[in-house]
Amino acid sequence: MENVIIIGTGCAGYTAAIYTGRANLKPLILSGNMPGGQLTTTTEVENFPGFPNGIMGPELMMNMQAQAEKFGARIEYTLVSSVERKQKRDAYGQFDFSYFEVHTEGGTVYETRTVIVATGASPKHLGLPNEKGLIGRGLTSCATCDGAFYRNVPVCVIGGGDSACEEAGFLTKFASTVYLIHRRDSLRASKIMADRALANPKIRPVWNSTVAEYLTDEKGEVRAVMLENLITGEKSELELKCVFVAIGHVPNGQFLGDLVDTDEGGYILQTHGTHTKTEGLFAAGDVADHVYRQAITAAGQGCAAALEAERYLADHGVH
Ligand code: NAP
Repeated sequence: MENVIIIGTGCAGYTAAIYTGRANLKPLILSGNMPGGQLTTTTEVENFPGFPNGIMGPELMMNMQAQAEKFGARIEYTLVSSVERKQKRDAYGQFDFSYFEVHTEGGTVYETRTVIVATGASPKHLGLPNEKGLIGRGLTSCATCDGAFYRNVPVCVIGGGDSACEEAGFLTKFASTVYLIHRRDSLRASKIMADRALANPKIRPVWNSTVAEYLTDEKGEVRAVMLENLITGEKSELELKCVFVAIGHVPNGQFLGDLVDTDEGGYILQTHGTHTKTEGLFAAGDVADHVYRQAITAAGQGCAAALEAERYLADHGVH
C-alpha cells in the first residue's frame, strides 16, 4: 500500500513529489504519456521565478525530476486508465480504511491511501473531419517539436492567445512567413506577447478568420488551408506547408469517472484547496485550473496538494 500516488509529471506533479518526498512519504509518480508535461514542448521559460535569464522548458522539468528523485520519489513510466475507491474491512467485518486502486493501461494495479491528480491538459483541435489523420503530416500542436522541419516555407498558427503568439515567434526562426489566423480582430494574448508577435515582420496576422478545411497534396500532406472570413463569409485558399494549432487545451481527468465533479470544460472542481469531492483524492495544476494555467501556479497547487495529502494521512494515522 502506497501512501501517495502522484499521477502526472508536469510542474504540479513534480512539486507534489518534492514535498511528499521531503515529508518521507515515499511518493510513487506515474508519468503519463508525456513525461515532463507541457513545458517539455516549450523553448525558453522567462517567467518562472528564480531564473532571471530564463531557462529552457525541458531543462526546468529535468531539474524538477532530479529534485523529486533526490527526496525519494519513484517514477513508473506508465499511463493510468482508471482509479477506483475501495474500502478494507477489519477482522470484525467493519470498514477499516479507504484506499484507492490505480489501474494502468499495462494492467498493473497499485494500491494507495491518497492520490494526487496532476495530469494537466492536452492541446485542442478544430474538429475538422480529416484533422486526426493529418497529425504529423503537416498538422501539429508543437512548434518546438516540429518547427525545424519547415524551413523557408510558409506555415500558419491558428489561435490568438499567448501560446499562438509564442509559437508564431518561435516559427519565424525557420519559416519564410508565419500566418497567424485568428477568429477575431484582436489577440487574447498578454500585451507583451501580442506586441512582440505583431512587431515581427515575418508574422502576418489573418484577422476574423477560421480554417474551414485542410487541403492536402497527392502524398496526403497539408498543402494549403481554406480560410473562411467570419464577417464576410468569403472563402480563400492559403498555400502553406504546416498548420500549428494553438487554440487552448482540454484537461486530462476523464479516467477518474465519478470520483470527481468537473465544470463544463472538463476541469476538475476542487471543493477546498486542492481537495476534490472524494476524500483522499487531490487535484492540482492545469487539470483543475482553467484560469491561471501557468507553470508557477501549477507548481504552487502541487505543493498545496502535497501538504493536504500529508495532513490527510496524518489524520488517518500515517506519519
Ligand atoms: P487561450 O488563452 O485559451 O487562447 C486560445 C486561443 O484560441 C484564443 O485566442 C481563442 O480565441 C482561440 N480559439 C479557441 N477555440 C478556437 C476555435 N475552435 N477556433 C479558432 N480559434 C479558437 O490558450 P493558450 O494560448 O494556450 O494559453 C493558455 C494559458 O497559458 C493562458 O493563461 C496563457 O496566458 C498561458 N501561456 C503563457 C505563456 C507565457 O507567458 N509564456 C505562453 C503560453 C501560454 P478567442 O480569443 O476568440 O477566444
